Amino acid sequence: MLCLLVFCLCIFLLWGIKIVVTHELGKDGLPVLGYHAVVRDDVKETYYANDTYVMSESKFKEQMKYLHDNNYKTLTMDEVYDYYYGDFKLEKKVVVLTFDDGYKNFEEIVKPILETYDLHATCFVIGEKLETTKHRIGLDYLQSEDLANDSHVAYYSHSYGLHHKASGLDRKKVDTMNKDAIQKDFDKSKNVLDSTYFAFPYGRSNEKAESVLKENNVLLGFGYNQNRNMKRLDNVYLLPRYLMFSQMPLWYFKWIVE
Ligand SMILES: [Zn+2]
Repeated sequence: MLCLLVFCLCIFLLWGIKIVVTHELGKDGLPVLGYHAVVRDDVKETYYANDTYVMSESKFKEQMKYLHDNNYKTLTMDEVYDYYYGDFKLEKKVVVLTFDDGYKNFEEIVKPILETYDLHATCFVIGEKLETTKHRIGLDYLQSEDLANDSHVAYYSHSYGLHHKASGLDRKKVDTMNKDAIQKDFDKSKNVLDSTYFAFPYGRSNEKAESVLKENNVLLGFGYNQNRNMKRLDNVYLLPRYLMFSQMPLWYFKWIVE
């Protein structure tokens, strides 16, 4: 029993060291944060207390206030593109805010906070969800008429219909598709969403999907959870983002963006 405990402790420690080392080595790049839903505190407590992907409004606000009070600049996708190709000089305090899945709460809760603190965020929307009207409490989806870019928000593609899992251990829909099928999904995405910039569902990509993005002149594609800043040497179609989780303490947030 003791041996098992020590073994688990060692694994946990090594995992922690790996995260710290990976992060510290990549510090000179650009932190790209990946959020999902942000809901009212009472909704969070009542319905999504243990849901990692649903952050409370107060926690999100605390993070945005920190960025504002410490003079962070939040980049648009065009500025990230310029950074990647060397035309944008990185100031000391820069961060990129992204949101996946296109929830209505992006407009109702996130956007007013961005306006309060004069920040910018990009929302990657799932094309097929634009046609759904009702979902879970606090997690309705945006509709086509909601997608108006301004100085605080911009909307791009999270695919049309690739946001599904496939049977088998850790398999996603994109893993099961041939290139033609991925291209067809991209065509549908282009019909309903600006697909100049793209975030892969679950951060999952493969060679076929990347070549579709390339052939369709997508400028940047995003993945997930590599736990380090984005750099110019990264694959332009699978740029790393930090997966933001609802239990994240402020010190951890500061550590990521500093
Ligand atoms: Zn997603």
